[in-house]
Amino acid sequence: MPTSLYDTLQALYGLQQLDSQIARTRKSQAALDTGAAATENAAAARAEAEGKRTALHHLQGDLKDSELKLKGVEDKRKTYHDRLYKGGVTNPKELSNMEKEIAALGRQRADLDGRILELMDRVERAQSDLTAAEERAREADTRRADTVAAFRSRHDTLELELADLTRRRGEAALQIEDKALLKRYDDIRAKSGVGIAKIEDGSCGACHMSLPSGMIKAVKEYAEPQRCENCLRLLTT
Ligand SMILES: [Zn+2]
Repeated sequence: MPTSLYDTLQALYGLQQLDSQIARTRKSQAALDTGAAATENAAAARAEAEGKRTALHHLQGDLKDSELKLKGVEDKRKTYHDRLYKGGVTNPKELSNMEKEIAALGRQRADLDGRILELMDRVERAQSDLTAAEERAREADTRRADTVAAFRSRHDTLELELADLTRRRGEAALQIEDKALLKRYDDIRAKSGVGIAKIEDGSCGACHMSLPSGMIKAVKEYAEPQRCENCLRLLTT
């Protein structure tokens, strides 16, 4: 005995449930946060920390240079000072030049002391800037890793669900003997995702337009497939 039109339309309605579920699952999968933004943020935070590290190294280099210069100035000053006070120099002009030189070296030393103090202060601030930037980079990287892991896990779960739904959909479609009506359903569904609707309170369950009573009667008779006059979807009860 061939399957009645009622049974075929009910089977198509069952297929519609699977097709809608497949569409919803695909949509959920496409809407997942892939972690792209978190990855970008983590890269930016890393670059910022690198910039702070470079700045700190420059300042540390400047500080070391200034400390070496200071040592040079102090050594030179000590040499002059020792020569002056050991009494080896007796020429008054030479003595006067050496005193001037010692005074000039003293001013250089004072300038360098000031510069070193300033640099030490800046190194300290740069160090704490770097520590904070590294902490931000670590946090951003943790967020990136968490987001990417959550994406992969959820994506895989949805992928399994899709595989199962697609298999069930294929089996359900095979059960439908009226291939011409199945094709009509697929053609209508291709446009909007919905190929068949139930009559709900005298209206089309898809577009919600009120249906004429003659149409409702024709659907219930199941002699010929009926379509909603407004949205052209197949109708069943
Ligand atoms: Zn409709």
